[in-house]
Amino acid sequence: MGDERVKTEALQIIGMFQVLPRLVVFDLDYTLWPFYCECRSKREMPSLYPHAKGILHAFKEKGVDVAIASRSPTADIAKAFLDKLNITSMFVAKEIFSSWTHKTEHFQKIHSRTGIPYSSMLFFDDENRNIQAVSKMGVTSILVGNGVNLGALRQGLIEYSKNLNTIEKNKQRWLKKYSGNSSSSEKNDKE
Ligand SMILES: [Mg+2]
Repeated sequence: MGDERVKTEALQIIGMFQVLPRLVVFDLDYTLWPFYCECRSKREMPSLYPHAKGILHAFKEKGVDVAIASRSPTADIAKAFLDKLNITSMFVAKEIFSSWTHKTEHFQKIHSRTGIPYSSMLFFDDENRNIQAVSKMGVTSILVGNGVNLGALRQGLIEYSKNLNTIEKNKQRWLKKYSGNSSSSEKNDKE
């Protein structure tokens, strides 16, 4: 499937959701591209997973920002590859540095750079420890098994909507519980 075809399908998937994340964050190695860039040479021509480019362009077209969170120790190679792939300018933030934290530091930086709350972010990564750590921050985080693809995109948007619904329901529950003049609490008082 060519990039344009993937983009069209990605736009159809995105179009099925009423609420979208404000920012989608991608890992690099084994999420956007099928290798560890630290094992490659800057002189090589890299390639992305087959659906990656179409998905990135679909998000951009829908007005959803995209960013990178990578623990690659070779940011120079990663950045050279993003340039060669012609996608550097698509990202509103590129946090690429090795760290002992499982990307919580990367997300703190992305948050302070963009001002976007964690609950409005969606994250794709191939390592479970990163998914665990970042989802605890409130980011909807999706583990990818074979790079980011249309299936992962659909799953990500479903999970994001579910999480948002949960947040909204909890908010309503709190409002009901703590606003003295809501009808439900009046009723409860009389009972
Ligand atoms: Mg990775």
